[in-house]
Amino acid sequence: MNIGFIGLGNMGGPMALNLAKAGHRLHVFDLSQLAVAQLVEAGARSLDSPAAVARAGVEVIISMLPAAQHVKSVYLGEDGLLANVPKGVLLIDSSTIDPHSAREVAAAASKQGNPMLDAPVSGGTGGAAAGTLTFMVGGAAADFDRAHPVLSAMGRNIVHCGDSGNGQVAKVANNMLLGISMIGVAEAMSLGVSLGMDAKTLAGILNTSSGRCWSSEINNPYPGVLENAPASRGYSGGFGSDLMLKDLGLATEAAKQIRQPVILGALAQQLYQSFSLQGHGGLDFSAIIKLYQKDL
Ligand code: NAD
Repeated sequence: MNIGFIGLGNMGGPMALNLAKAGHRLHVFDLSQLAVAQLVEAGARSLDSPAAVARAGVEVIISMLPAAQHVKSVYLGEDGLLANVPKGVLLIDSSTIDPHSAREVAAAASKQGNPMLDAPVSGGTGGAAAGTLTFMVGGAAADFDRAHPVLSAMGRNIVHCGDSGNGQVAKVANNMLLGISMIGVAEAMSLGVSLGMDAKTLAGILNTSSGRCWSSEINNPYPGVLENAPASRGYSGGFGSDLMLKDLGLATEAAKQIRQPVILGALAQQLYQSFSLQGHGGLDFSAIIKLYQKDL
């Protein structure tokens, strides 16, 4: 299949490489020449704008961009996708953005005859490289079926979440819970260790008891508990605190629009905001435990 791909960063780069490995012909664009070069080496054709990708004779276009403002400019801008794409080409945005913006761009696409899906992912850069991402997809069922074989080359769990925007809804709800649970685990681990328990023993108890969750078991924030977790290598790599802050902002903003209380989500957002202000935005989000234990 001829596929357009826009946004070849930490996530989009390896995702596009997996499409190339699956035998698809890629037509790519990114503002960074370095990001493009890696794909060209794998056989992709480099183009110089979203408009050129739209006119490249592709059947599907996928975007993986930082935030809503980039998605809007790539889709709705003068030299953007919608002003140039032929009717019927399937558009898939995998960026994590707010559900409202996702619905706005999809409605504009649909108005001119282009089906569009929001398909944010979870699984991180490791999952992107291994082709094991989870895709949370919003849009019409027929478009989901059409996208499925393409998404399968990049992910393992491809889930239809309902109408347009619902992929983003699933993503912000999951990441809000993840932020809250990480802070909870950091608080509990700090309390236990300060009261005299060995961190590894305490984590073992949590993980075989009712406190168990992804943040305690797979990405425990206490150094030394898990050899391969960011906590055991100075909180480097992993999922950056500033990315968690962005996702918590999406959740609290979306909640505000419908007056839905997200009391712990808002508190988590404020904690990550103050953590970022202290200069820790680049550390893995488990480093939030530093708010409780200065010496870590
Ligand atoms: P990134 O910053 O590494 O990559 C974004 C890419 O988009 C860059 O190469 C940049 O040059 C390009 N870009 C920006 N504006 C552009 C434009 N107008 N036209 C063309 N290219 C443009 O970000 P990432 O880590 O790949 O994340 C992408 C999205 O995936 C974000 O929404 C993020 O929240 C989400 N996400 C990231 C992770 C993760 O672990 N990194 C996990 C899940 C979801």
